Amino acid sequence: MIKLAGIGASRGIAIGKIYLLDRSRMCVLKYEIQKDEINKEIQRFKEAVAESTKYLNKIKEKAKKNLDSKFLGIMNGHMMILQDDLLVSETIDRIKNERINAEWVFQKSMKRLRNIFLKMDDEYLRERGKDIDHVGNLILRNLIGHDQESIADLNEKAIIVSRDLAPSDVVQMKKDKVLGFVTEAGGKTSHVSIMAASFEIPAVVGLNGIIEKAGLGDSIIVDGIEGVVIINPTKEEFKHYLKKLQIFEYHNKELLKIKDFKAETTDGFSVKLMANIETNLEIPLAKRQGAQGVGLFRTECLFLNRQDLPSEEEHFQIYKETVESFAPHPVIIRTLDAGGDKIVPQLNKIEANPALGLRAIRYSLKQLNIFKEQLRAILRAGHFGNIKIMYPLISGLEEIQKANEILEEVKEDLSRDGIPFKKNIEIGIMIETPSAAVIADVLAHAVDFFSIGTNDLIQYVLAVDRTNEMVASLYQPLHPSVLRLIQLVLKSAEKANIEVSVCGSMGGNPLSALILLGLGKIDSMSMYAHSLPKIKKMIRNVSLKDAKDISSHILTLSSFKEINDYVSAEVPKRFSDDMNFADLN
Ligand code: PEP
Ligand code: MG
Repeated sequence: MIKLAGIGASRGIAIGKIYLLDRSRMCVLKYEIQKDEINKEIQRFKEAVAESTKYLNKIKEKAKKNLDSKFLGIMNGHMMILQDDLLVSETIDRIKNERINAEWVFQKSMKRLRNIFLKMDDEYLRERGKDIDHVGNLILRNLIGHDQESIADLNEKAIIVSRDLAPSDVVQMKKDKVLGFVTEAGGKTSHVSIMAASFEIPAVVGLNGIIEKAGLGDSIIVDGIEGVVIINPTKEEFKHYLKKLQIFEYHNKELLKIKDFKAETTDGFSVKLMANIETNLEIPLAKRQGAQGVGLFRTECLFLNRQDLPSEEEHFQIYKETVESFAPHPVIIRTLDAGGDKIVPQLNKIEANPALGLRAIRYSLKQLNIFKEQLRAILRAGHFGNIKIMYPLISGLEEIQKANEILEEVKEDLSRDGIPFKKNIEIGIMIETPSAAVIADVLAHAVDFFSIGTNDLIQYVLAVDRTNEMVASLYQPLHPSVLRLIQLVLKSAEKANIEVSVCGSMGGNPLSALILLGLGKIDSMSMYAHSLPKIKKMIRNVSLKDAKDISSHILTLSSFKEINDYVSAEVPKRFSDDMNFADLN
């Protein structure tokens, strides 16, 4: 049994077998084959061995020409391994007898042979153990083929363990197959973590070294609540987590009972609770959890897992479906936020510093065709319901003005073409750069609403990469500088009489959401759908007065340690037993 602690990125508990997606190596799945498939499977294996022999021969010929005798010796050793009876015949026998796929059986034989070598006294022979890896991986690569590294190919239930995952991987995860995932890289608010939460896939990230410890097909428990992973659990651990899973599911069901109630404090202040979504596939979940519209539609997903770009029509159909589904509630479409930790492969170039690079609105203002297509689609969908536009990563007034100029051009085009669209569409901006927060009083006069993106705001205020597990402990949502800036933004919005929402992950955490409420007037909070009921429960259990008292006290404290200590010790005391923060957190 190995127990490891990482960062809980997406709540929930998953129990299953490991699917090792190590892109530097190979991922091998185990599956049974039918009796009539045995010969085909053996043939497939023989072909992979033949391919590997051909490849090694070619390299050997090259070595001969260059008269590199040392290298030639190694190659001869490799060729001998390929002819090794134990490795080849044993694999064929096991395919026949056990009726398991070739790569799985072969990998087992390879491991066994390597272990025999590694235990030898003679150093030279011990070294040959490593050669077995080289040759074995060559055969495996030929068996699997390079394209098979896609998560979409997973055809049995498993928990993915990987060095890192891309947003495009998460989109491809089939919920009935991917029970959970664990990565070495990543922070709580990295895009991949947020998407996992959106899709309700339990996940733990920032678990350095797990690849080395995880064995193919090993049993694993992923506790996304505590950020704990257990490989090959004992019977007791297994029972414990099975029970925890049941309790978790029970709480979720209980919380859902209040989904249609108002999110109103005990002294009558109400907050609109909306959903963050990434695709239209999340609409049913968001509605089930009681979302009053969409506070943030992250549109990057439309661009993932394809080589081309989504057409205006594709954008339009998805936005139209969303806005019609949530009527009469609003749907806020954020224009493309490509770049940073949301790399869209066909658009973004490699940059030394992507978080500070050509990202979000900066990208859209450079690639006007892509921007215009999206704006046209949003405006057209606005004809069918309550839709708003939101620009991401604004850092100054000029960006808003430039984006609005483009919007006006698009409106003129639509008018000229006689296409119906929403003329008086509301425009909002994300407040997620320190620059925008500091001049929020100026920006407030240029837009209809603000939405505070705490994920990026924290990253940029504290200069802590939100995706980097090595600095994850420095990523502190309750840092005094973050809280003061948020208060400043709330004040500016109130003074200019515009609506303000919080759409970063802070709003989805009951303790931080409570503090946000106390910092100033917030009209709505938007979060991944799964968090909505617990935030509603928190709000219904607190008075605005209490929230203000707590936040005022916090603002007198000087370090995030003091703030965290105060919050976790003192805040829960103010609530009834029914409000169990430990369960909700
Ligand atoms: C944010 O930065 O808080 C936010 C909501 O946007 P994203 O997480 O998509 O960057
Ligand atoms: Mg952001």
